[in-house]
Amino acid sequence: MMKIMILNCGSSSLKFQLFDMASKNHTVLAKGSVEEIGHDQSVLHYKTHKMKKDEEVEKKVTAKDHTQAVDHVARALLDPKTGLFKESIEVDAVGHRVVHGGEKFSKSALITKGVKEVIEDCFDIAPLHNPPNYAGIEACEKIFKGVPQVAVFDTAFHQTMQKEAYIYGLPYELYERYHIRKYGFHGTSHEYVSNRAAELMKKDGAKLKLVTCHLGNGASITAINGGKSVDTSMGFTPLEGLVMGTRTGDMDPAVVLFLMEKEHLDFKGMNDLLNKKSGLKGISGISNDLREIIEAAGKDNARAKYAIDIFTYRITKYIGSYAAAMGGLDAVVFTGGIGENAAAIREKVLKPLEFMGLIIDAKLNDSKDKEKIISKTGSKVKAFVIPTNEELMIAKKTMWVVEESGNTFR
Ligand code: ADP
Repeated sequence: MMKIMILNCGSSSLKFQLFDMASKNHTVLAKGSVEEIGHDQSVLHYKTHKMKKDEEVEKKVTAKDHTQAVDHVARALLDPKTGLFKESIEVDAVGHRVVHGGEKFSKSALITKGVKEVIEDCFDIAPLHNPPNYAGIEACEKIFKGVPQVAVFDTAFHQTMQKEAYIYGLPYELYERYHIRKYGFHGTSHEYVSNRAAELMKKDGAKLKLVTCHLGNGASITAINGGKSVDTSMGFTPLEGLVMGTRTGDMDPAVVLFLMEKEHLDFKGMNDLLNKKSGLKGISGISNDLREIIEAAGKDNARAKYAIDIFTYRITKYIGSYAAAMGGLDAVVFTGGIGENAAAIREKVLKPLEFMGLIIDAKLNDSKDKEKIISKTGSKVKAFVIPTNEELMIAKKTMWVVEESGNTFR
C-alpha cells in the first residue's frame, strides 16, 4: 500500500487528503480540514471514502496551533466508529504544499534539516505562506514520527525562467540584496495541466508551445515552451498579473505612491486595498465570485460588465504576448474554478485570437464534459479545458521523491 497524506497549511487553517496511490484511480481515502486554528474554538471537517456523498464529520475542537490541528486529524483517522485505522495510522509519506522555495528549489524535496532551513529563509519573501507551511511540517514530524515528508513548492516549476523574464526594471543590486524578482506561483497546477494537454494532443511535450490559464480566485497564466515554464504572470508575490477575485494584478506602481498620500494609507491599508478589496470585487462592487458578477451583468449592471471585460481582456493580452515570447503557440489550456466552468469567459478570451488561427467551437465549449477540447477541428492552435488536481499532483511528486530517495513503501 502507498498511502500518502497531503497537507496544505494556511495561517489559520489546514486542509488534508489521504490518497491510496496503489489503487487504480488514486482513491481519496479521507479528506477534510481544520479551520480557525489559533482561535478559541476550531472546527474539524472530516470524511472518508466509506461515507455517503453528503455525509461528513463536523466537530468543534481546540487547536491552538498546527500541531494540535494535525493531532485532531490523526485522532479522526483512528476513531473507532468513523476512522480508517485501528491501532496506528498507516501513512507512508506526507506531502506538503509549500508556497515559496525561493531560488533554491526547482523541484520537490525530501524534507531534511537543510530543506527546512531554506523554507525558513523564505519567510521574508513569503511572510503569509511559508510560516504556516513550516508549522505544518513540524507538526507532522511530531504526530507522524519517522514518516518521510516531502515539500512540493508552488514556485519550483517556474525556476526554468530566464533572467529576461524574471528580473524587474529595478536596480540590480536589489535583486542581489533581497532576491526581488518574479517567482511565479500555481506551478503544480500549470505543470499538471500542461502535461495532460500533451497527452491529449498525443504529442511530445518537449516540442509544444503552450499557454496555461489557471483561473480561480487567484489567477495566473504561464508560457510553457518544450515542457518548461518560460514566463508566468504572477511575480514576486501572487499580486502581479491578471485581475483576480480581490487582487489588482498589473498596474502602474506609481498608483501605490499616489494613493498612500491621498488616502493616508499605511502598509496594512495599502496591502488590504491591493490584495483584498480590488480585482473583480473592487471593479464590480458586487463580489469576488464571478458567478454573481455574470448574473448581475445579465441584468445590465454596468460595473459587472466592466469587471468581465477587464478580466477577459487582460487574459487575451497575456496569451498574445506569451505567443510572441515563445515565437508560436500550439495550444491554450484553461483550468481552475473559472477556467473549468465559465464557458462564456473562455469564449470572450479566445474570440480575439482567431487571427492567430485559434478557432473556438461554441458547441464543444458549452458541452458538459469536464475535460475537453474546445477548438474547432482543423484549428491551427488548439484550446482545452483540463480540470486541475493539485492535491493528486502533490501526492504523485511525494511518492516519486520518496521512491528516489531509496525509501521503500510497505
Ligand atoms: P481558488 O483559487 O480559491 O481555489 P477556484 O479555483 O475554486 O478558487 O475558483 C473560484 C472561482 O471560480 C470563483 O470566482 C467562482 O465564481 C468561479 N466559478 C466556479 N464555477 C463557476 C461557473 N459555473 N461559472 C463562472 N464562474 C465559476
